[in-house]
Amino acid sequence: MNYGFDGKVALVTGAGSGIGRASAIGFAASGARVIVSDVNETGGTETVEMIRAAGGAAVFQNCDVSEADQVKALVARAVSEYGGLDFAHNNAGINSMMANEYDDDVWAKSLGVNLTGVMLCMREESEVMLKAGKGAIVNTSSINGLVGNGAQPGYVATKHGVVGLTRHGALRWAQQGVRVNAVCPGVVETGMTAPLAANPEMRKVLDSMTPMGRMGRPEEIASAVLWLCSDQASFVTGHALVIDGGATAV
Ligand code: NAD
Repeated sequence: MNYGFDGKVALVTGAGSGIGRASAIGFAASGARVIVSDVNETGGTETVEMIRAAGGAAVFQNCDVSEADQVKALVARAVSEYGGLDFAHNNAGINSMMANEYDDDVWAKSLGVNLTGVMLCMREESEVMLKAGKGAIVNTSSINGLVGNGAQPGYVATKHGVVGLTRHGALRWAQQGVRVNAVCPGVVETGMTAPLAANPEMRKVLDSMTPMGRMGRPEEIASAVLWLCSDQASFVTGHALVIDGGATAV
């Protein structure tokens, strides 16, 4: 679907892979010029090449979202390259599946990327959007932003925090033309889940985690991100949209 984003500028973090790549491609396919951002330069550059090969416009900006100065430079790039910022998908995130998140370093890293990263992005993006009096921000949380899991304190706490930040931003800027929403994916087939899904037995477990009996596709999350940014969602703000094949319906 084309959301009619001609002339608009979109920024996506964690766009070198998975959900972020799908949303960057989706924004471009709807006509937006896209700032593709990631710490993974190879993945990010590939996303830019995919967008350009399809006739879209995009540039890559390396950015570690947990670093304030890099996030400032990222948003400044949107303004210098394309003249402003209409949409932001704050999507970069990590899931320390194999690590103990009660370890100090792992905990700090989870907070830095998953939660502080979203706050830093919102802080810089909102400044540009408020000046223009318009904009839409979508943060990637998770179903673990709404329900717990017994294995990952860092992931669960940071993803709940992202939903909190989303509601805060929505209320803070509700009368200034800036909407803030979150997407809460269930299990999706991306770089994050690839190490587990590579094992056929584990793949069966992942598929069986949703009532639909399969993992989600990155495009199925991206389409919700695009809709939330579009004028079709003009009265939607502060919402945490679950996209999980029914996993949290049980
Ligand atoms: P992915 O690993 O394919 O993509 C994540 C991207 O973020 C990677 O390209 C990575 O290089 C980048 N990244 C990591 N740390 C970064 C940092 N400090 N700064 C900038 N970029 C960084 O995984 P994905 O599944 O596409 O993840 C995207 C988002 O979706 C994450 O926030 C994740 O928590 C969330 N999510 C994923 C699933 C799932 O099942 N895949 C489910 C719920 C939520």
